[in-house]
Amino acid sequence: MSFSSNVKSELLHCFGEEPHCSISEMTAIINLCGQIIEKDNKICIKIQTENVTVARKFFTLIKKNFNIECSITVRRSSQLKKNRIYVLSVGDKSRRESMLKLLETCSLAYGNNGGLKLNNIKGLFYDVCCKKAYIRGAFLSSGSVNDPEKTYHMEFVVQDEYNCRDLMEVINSFGIDSKSIIRKEHYVIYIKEGEQISDLLNIMGAHVALMNFENIRILKDMRNNVNRKVNCETANLSKTITAAVKQIEDIEFIRDNYGLKKLPPALCATAMARLDFPDASLKELGAMMRPPVGKSGINHRLHKISEIAQQLIEGNGMIK
Ligand SMILES: [Zn+2]
Repeated sequence: MSFSSNVKSELLHCFGEEPHCSISEMTAIINLCGQIIEKDNKICIKIQTENVTVARKFFTLIKKNFNIECSITVRRSSQLKKNRIYVLSVGDKSRRESMLKLLETCSLAYGNNGGLKLNNIKGLFYDVCCKKAYIRGAFLSSGSVNDPEKTYHMEFVVQDEYNCRDLMEVINSFGIDSKSIIRKEHYVIYIKEGEQISDLLNIMGAHVALMNFENIRILKDMRNNVNRKVNCETANLSKTITAAVKQIEDIEFIRDNYGLKKLPPALCATAMARLDFPDASLKELGAMMRPPVGKSGINHRLHKISEIAQQLIEGNGMIK
């Protein structure tokens, strides 16, 4: 099973404690994968989903909150993959009143086009607990999350602009920085940061998935840190080696074209030590001097030697 379906099957068994929470969760499901049909004085809510988890959750929630049974039909999608599609219908003529009450409780309104619209998302929430439940319902119906071993990515695919805006507002009210884009006529809300995905798993109540996610995240961070450190050390080392190679070239040029013995004694000693110990660090070279000098003293001498080599190369002949 993918990481995403593991999260969903965990969320299937996760319920808000209070009725206001489970109504929020149910509303998210209706809002994100449902439609309202009114025909011949009959109101019907239809939920269509390829995910059996969503179907089961909705079935349970509507029974729990309104004591209404759904009828379920399963059909094959017309696409090549032939996935199962679960269609849950709620409502018949005799239940018009209870259906109106359900819509009112869920702050849902329906327009002439049969579309659903959440009237006032803020009115739906009794407290923070309901916002969490709404995100859980939204994730079940329209969310997915990558395996943390790959890139960090969580997304919600939403059909219309209003639902996108509302859901983003709820998510971001928890200090999460979700963004949205339009992809193939859908609105996609996405979160890219590991820590924020982890926060959202916690908010939705997917605690087992959260622990697995965090374990992988810690390992990945450790691996990255080690790599970064190795890269950094390698970079420093190659900088040191490049510098030493240049110093040796300069010293050999002076030796062959001028003579090391003609250099001031301190520079001569430094040059000979560098030739004898090409791998020594500046600090080590400094310690070989009599009297010893510090790292910056050796650095200064080596600069001086390079300047002399440069003057010789440029053919000035005059050594200051
Ligand atoms: Zn609540």
